[in-house]
This record gives sequence, C-alpha cells and structure tokens, in this order.
Amino acid sequence: RVKTMGKNNYLFFDESMTNSMREKARVENILREALETDGFTLHYQPQVAVKTGKLTGFEALLRLKDFSVPPGIFISVAEEIGLILEIGRWVTRAVIRQVAAWQEQELPVMPVSINFSALQLNDTDYVDFLKRELYQMNVPPRLIMIEITESIFLDNREETLRFLHQLKNLGVTISIDDFGTGYSSLSYLTEVPADLVKLDKSLIDRYLEKNSQAVIDSMIALIHSLNLEVLAEGVEEKEQFRRLASCGCDYIQGYLFSKPLPPEDAVNLFHQNFTSLFKEA
Ligand code: C2E
Ligand code: MG
Ligand code: MG
Ligand code: MG
Repeated sequence: RVKTMGKNNYLFFDESMTNSMREKARVENILREALETDGFTLHYQPQVAVKTGKLTGFEALLRLKDFSVPPGIFISVAEEIGLILEIGRWVTRAVIRQVAAWQEQELPVMPVSINFSALQLNDTDYVDFLKRELYQMNVPPRLIMIEITESIFLDNREETLRFLHQLKNLGVTISIDDFGTGYSSLSYLTEVPADLVKLDKSLIDRYLEKNSQAVIDSMIALIHSLNLEVLAEGVEEKEQFRRLASCGCDYIQGYLFSKPLPPEDAVNLFHQNFTSLFKEA
C-alpha cells in the first residue's frame, strides 16, 4: 500500500491522522480529569448598554484552570465525545451559584449568559435541571440568558423550538449567538422566541470596510423591526463602537471594554460606568 500510494503521501496522511487522534485523546483525558478534580473555571465578560454606558450583564466563558487547552478546541472535542452534556450542566450550575453569591453580597443584579451547544438538546432533562438549580439557589430565571447558535435549527427545528418555548415559560431569556456566520435564511428569526441577537465578531471586524457597514446597519434595522435587541461582539476599537452606537446597536461586548475576567475581578466592574470611554470615543 505504501508503494501504490507513494511513500511521502502515505506517511504524511498516516502521521497527521495519528497525531490528531492522539491530540483528541489527550484533550479527552484533560476534560475528564477536569470534571473530576474541579479543573474548570468560568470567566465573565461584561456587556455594556450603548445608551447609558452601564454594565448590563456578563457572558460566562468556560476555561480550564491550567489553560492547557483553549475553549475553541476543548468545546469541540467535548461535543465530539459527548462530554458536552456533563460539562454543560457543570457550567449551568456554576453560573447559578455565582449569581447567587453576587446576590448575597448585595451587588446589583446582573444577568449572565450561558453558551448552549446544539448537542445539549440530547440532554432531555436540561430544562428541569435548570429549573431545580434556580429554585435551590433562589435565583430569578430572568437573570439567566441561554445563548444558542443558528446552526441548532439545521437538523432540529421542531425540537429546538420546543426547547426554547420551555425556556421562555420558565422565564429565562434567549439570545442568538454568532449571528451572521451561518447559512440559514433570516426567516427563522421570526419563529424563535429570542430576546437578543449577537452579531458575530467576524462581521464587526469588517464593519469599517466600505460596503460592509451598510449591510450590518440594515441587519440591525431588520433585527429591531422584529422586536429583538442587538449586541455587537468582539468590539475592539473606538471607531467601531462609535459607529455602532450611531446606528442604534443596543449593547457592546468586546476587548474595548474588557476581556473575560475571573469572577473576583469581574466584581470590580459592577459599579464602573463606562461613559468616560464613550465620551472619548
Ligand atoms: P462565543 O460564545 O462567541 O464567545 C465569544 C468569544 O469571543 C470568547 O472566546 C471571547 O473571549 C471572545 N471575545 C470577546 N470579545 C473579543 C474581542 O474584542 N476580541 C477578540 N479577539 N475576542 C473576543 P472564548 O472564551 O475563547 O470562547 C470561544 C467559544 O467557545 C465561544 O464563542 C463559545 O462558542 C465556546 N464556549 C465558551 N464557553 C462555553 C461554554 O461554557 N459552553 C459552550 N457550549 N461553549 C462555550
Ligand atoms: Mg457566546
Ligand atoms: Mg459569539
Ligand atoms: Mg461561538
């Protein structure tokens, strides 16, 4: 076989396959160990209201405490090996505990967003689990937002809608994450009981280019016409922020304000007003 395929091709193919399998096995071990040894932590990235310059919430983003693998990689491995269900529950529980802790410190109540993988639809008791956790920790459901991506609709339209209506009935809010990266038509936006649409960073990166701005501005108008609010993700520059603000974007999340922070640092933002940044901008 080596001979017929050509030596170099075969070796290259073989080695890269083995490496990626070995890499996946390595990440799998790290994830299983993290679940057993309290090896995960959450970082919180602030979301700011454009109109007031005030903090309005956080997105919870999963980290390995030792930072050995970035989320972009370990989340997809967790999805491939089915561990995302257990990890998703860990994240949900940890967020609710954090919100409860902030409530007890009598800090202002801040909603926190949780990323929800399409594969977690297989966790059929998730909504009951969420409800129990909220009840146990005495956290009002409106303080939790669930982020889904539009790709969840591709294979599971009915199932997804049923899930989202269950969340709504519970009083949890819903956002559409990474908007503008998928291929689905905009029409699904009229069906989903969502509250917020998050424009993906890849759109925002191109925002200042000549023709992109018109496209994004009309996306914002369209989203507003469906009575949904808009958040821009990955805003790094004042100029992006300034123009987004002038075309009515409701919320901003990005390094311009802050990177995701460990909870003890995120707490310092509770009383911070970002308006000074707005004026400079
Ligand atoms: P996402 O949900 O779209 O989260 C936003 C990502 O953009 C985060 O990356 C955040 O750190 C990054 N980001 C925010 N503002 C800026 C900016 O101004 N510049 C740049 N360069 N990046 C910015 P992160 O934390 O690495 O997470 C990557 C992805 O991993 C997330 O994308 C989400 O899809 C997934 N993920 C993270 N935590 C969880 C989780 O708990 N559950 C699930 N299912 N997925 C998660
Ligand atoms: Mg997200
Ligand atoms: Mg996103
Ligand atoms: Mg994403």
